[in-house]
Amino acid sequence: MRILVVEDDVNLNRQLSDALKESGYVVDTAFDGEEGHFLGDTEPYDAVILDIGLPEMDGITVVEKWRSNGKGMPVLMLTARDRWSDKVAGIDAGADDYVAKPFHVEEVLARVRALIRRAAGHSSSEIVCGPVRLDTKASKATVDGVTLKLTSHEFRLLSYLMHHMGTVVSRTELVEHMYDQDFDRDSNTIEVFVGRLRKKIGVDLIETVRGLGYRMQAPADAQ
Ligand code: CA
Repeated sequence: MRILVVEDDVNLNRQLSDALKESGYVVDTAFDGEEGHFLGDTEPYDAVILDIGLPEMDGITVVEKWRSNGKGMPVLMLTARDRWSDKVAGIDAGADDYVAKPFHVEEVLARVRALIRRAAGHSSSEIVCGPVRLDTKASKATVDGVTLKLTSHEFRLLSYLMHHMGTVVSRTELVEHMYDQDFDRDSNTIEVFVGRLRKKIGVDLIETVRGLGYRMQAPADAQ
């Protein structure tokens, strides 16, 4: 899962990015509205955290432009505490949720998790695929109750596949959602990660769909 953080307050931006990375997300950062708008317009994100008060282009304009350009990723706005009008304007412009400053980082994380889950059609914080359970809150996965020891890449891969359970996910899509913009991406490594993940899970839940990508589903759900 890949997140964009657009916040001009350098410390706050770093605080949010660090917390997201610790939770297993890959994070890109922008420090003004123009840069943030460009990234959100050109890169695929699973969620965006967007400050309203930004240099170059304000957050409301950024989200408006994304929406009018057909970008539908979940957007969480950061608003000033007493500016109720900002919250209304943000939601009207196309934001999905907001958090008022000052906030606890945990609240932002919880809202981001919920936005990503709901965008993928899951209402519970735990996603289940046969014997595998993904706890999005604790950023961990278990097989038959036993915790899987996963690297951050393996966790991101599993998390993305489970959020999109039952659908075919291409290698390109996986690469785009597992690495940040500066990473030297190579879609061949995805195959290696899938192989390792299969071994760790021990049950055959990740199907290779020739020429298309991968699909994760529980045996009972398979056609
Ligand atoms: Ca600001």
